[in-house]
Amino acid sequence: MQPTLDVSVVIPLFNEEESLPELHEWLVRVLSAHQFSYEIIMVDDGSKDSSWQVIKQLASQNSCVKGISFTRNYGKSAALHTGFQAVNGKVVITMDADLQDSPDEIPELYRLITDENFDLVSGWKKKRHDPLSKTLPTKLFNYMTRLFSGIYLHDFNCGLKAYKYKVVKNIEVYGEMHRYIPVIAKWNGFGKIGEKVVEHRARKYGTTKFGLERFVNGFLDLLSITFVTRFKKRPMHFFGSMGILSFLAGFMITCGLIAEKMYKAAHQLHLRDVTAQPLFFLALVALIIGTQLFLAGFLAEMISLNSPKRNDYLIEEKTY
Ligand code: UDP
Ligand code: MG
Repeated sequence: MQPTLDVSVVIPLFNEEESLPELHEWLVRVLSAHQFSYEIIMVDDGSKDSSWQVIKQLASQNSCVKGISFTRNYGKSAALHTGFQAVNGKVVITMDADLQDSPDEIPELYRLITDENFDLVSGWKKKRHDPLSKTLPTKLFNYMTRLFSGIYLHDFNCGLKAYKYKVVKNIEVYGEMHRYIPVIAKWNGFGKIGEKVVEHRARKYGTTKFGLERFVNGFLDLLSITFVTRFKKRPMHFFGSMGILSFLAGFMITCGLIAEKMYKAAHQLHLRDVTAQPLFFLALVALIIGTQLFLAGFLAEMISLNSPKRNDYLIEEKTY
């Protein structure tokens, strides 16, 4: 399928009734001023307030507004994923609903994707209007993500991003992985990732939907995403190599202990009970952990053998 519009704007939202009319008006102003053909896809992630009524109202006034409503709150990643499946635009823009991201950035983001051929351009909230309790851990989060992923972005979790159509159609955002979309994109071969400094504004209405637990969960997600992207198709390489190391260490210590015992016995030196030697227990633990890691590797291999996605590759082009 080929995209038929210039721009799709995807907006995940949860309890943002006050912001929506203002956001809609601003978006329409910017998009029509640049003569884009567009659609605005608002994904209501199970709001408890009247957000969905507001969306229906907007959709009845403007046929470019499309609403999707979940039965319950599934999270921002789920909302983005569902929005991505519905898009029809050459350039896909995601933005938060809370008016912290400015629609004025869209034309420049559009240009970066179409003219400069970026796969993904991430916003960088260089000057943030958020409390210190949020900006400080964010610095650490971005540093860690840069380290693990090798992608040099300053601000991974900015809600304002632009993508090529084929990128959003080929990546899967799941769990709470919306923080790591650039990482997912890169691992799927969409490596031309850029950055644009964007204006960031203080939240006007409502409250933030993420607390401090985002940093713990975010770090765990970083570990999973790094592991999964590297070893999804070859888990034995991960578990097996650690298993070999551990098993070898245990095996060598055991050999050392036996050699020592034989040497001392041959020379009639004082012999210690093997259970009185701490090294013996270390060897035992290392051998057991080594075997366990191997087992984990085998099980993971069998699981991935059964995965229907084990031979899923993205094909860039074909000649037939
Ligand atoms: N959001 C969502 N589902 C959720 C939580 C948040 O769709 O479960 C939306 C929210 O309505 C907003 C965006 O995700 O449009 C970013 O959320 P928020 O502004 O609370 O995050 P922050 O700016 O504090 O990082
Ligand atoms: Mg916000």
